[in-house]
Amino acid sequence: MTFACRLGCGACCIAPSITTPFLGMPNGKRAGERCVHLDAANLCVLFGRPERPRFCSDLRPEPSMCGTKDTEAMAILTWLEQATHPTT
Ligand code: SF4
Ligand code: SF4
Repeated sequence: MTFACRLGCGACCIAPSITTPFLGMPNGKRAGERCVHLDAANLCVLFGRPERPRFCSDLRPEPSMCGTKDTEAMAILTWLEQATHPTT
């Protein structure tokens, strides 16, 4: 069964860092920084376009990442970011 993205959540466009440069973010994106392509409704304006970073198209919604609500997704992704990219 496919797990669908909770549209309007946006957690995976804010919490993770993106280490490669992409359109509008020449230095990539810091952890916790809101992507410039996330619109007011927390939807990606690059969705379906070739300029959308590979990081984003590779990221698939799944219960272990998205949780059951937006705040849970943000907490999980923030934890994952810290676990995989320690700053110290
Ligand atoms: S964290 Fe999951 S539910 Fe939230 S925007 Fe990303 S894919 Fe969608
Ligand atoms: S490019 Fe789109 S999918 Fe990727 S982080 Fe930005 S808003 Fe999210």
